[in-house]
Amino acid sequence: MEKLIIIGSGPAGLTAAIYSGRANLSPLVIEGLSSGGQLMTTTEVENFPGFKDPVLGPDLIDNMRAQAQRFGTRFETGDIIEVDFRKKPFTLKTENKIYQAHSVIIATGATPRKLNIESETRLWGHGVSSCATCDGAFFRGKEITVIGGGDSALEEAVFLTRFASKVTLVHRRDQLRASKIMQEKAFSNNKIHFLWDSIIEEILSNEKKLVRGLRVKNLKTNEVFDYPCEGVFIAIGHIPNTNLFEGQIDMDRGYIIVNNPTTQTNIEGIFAAGDAVDHIYRQAITASAMGCKAAIDVERYLSEQNI
Ligand code: NAP
Repeated sequence: MEKLIIIGSGPAGLTAAIYSGRANLSPLVIEGLSSGGQLMTTTEVENFPGFKDPVLGPDLIDNMRAQAQRFGTRFETGDIIEVDFRKKPFTLKTENKIYQAHSVIIATGATPRKLNIESETRLWGHGVSSCATCDGAFFRGKEITVIGGGDSALEEAVFLTRFASKVTLVHRRDQLRASKIMQEKAFSNNKIHFLWDSIIEEILSNEKKLVRGLRVKNLKTNEVFDYPCEGVFIAIGHIPNTNLFEGQIDMDRGYIIVNNPTTQTNIEGIFAAGDAVDHIYRQAITASAMGCKAAIDVERYLSEQNI
């Protein structure tokens, strides 16, 4: 029987592990097969306090993980496939193991959204990607497009200029959603070009089944045209990873509802933190802050229950 199980090992889960470990709760972190969360596919993080110089996303995660281990956190790998939060102690199942816990912190994060067109699926890994750090170097000297107008898209676009001869940002409106500082960075980079008011109708491939361009539609003029590129990076937002909890945990459009200012869900003893909850801030630091709160909430809850 575990005092606390934390599901997820991004900044929310790992910060919850650091704080609850330090409170002697000996937490067990169950991390999915894609451990570390979205920071593992992030390039330079410039806004996490404590780092004067940019820190790479995977390095930040490695440090958090080591810090959590220092305070007695245990890690197990496995995707949780079923939970029963209806009765206590709570039950969580992976493919080959059943866990029981007095309390749970859900920190399952979010997954990059896709365009959901046939050519995207067919050409995924053949020129289509959602991870500039993983795949950017394949496009040295080539022309690349990035889809989206938020911070992720601009961050990817700026990073990809290290490799690409030209990066074109394709956005469905004529204004970016990204923060001012990212906009300034992108606008001042002469390798970055913009296609405004444009959506992707199809990703085009050549005879080798590799990306050769995009069929783009301008939403203002209805003009449809082909635009050449050899790489396409999709950066159009995220979907919370919360399907597993449907029917048991209260949610709003897939995001877990917590009883602010705490991290308590509708079920006493089940807490939630990070991008599975937060559709507004979605920063590593806000996820961490929520993970910290969740650990303190759990500590209080267990002590009230005399556990
Ligand atoms: P986001 O802010 O939700 O932006 C998603 C972008 O994709 C928007 O521009 C949206 O267009 C576009 N989009 C959505 N669905 C689309 C579709 N089906 N087809 C075409 N375009 C589509 O997501 P994000 O950029 O991943 O950022 C998420 C959060 O993380 C934000 O709060 C952001 O500030 C934060 N973040 C911060 C940093 C940083 O501080 N360095 C880095 C990355 C992310 P519309 O604008 O028209 O809606």
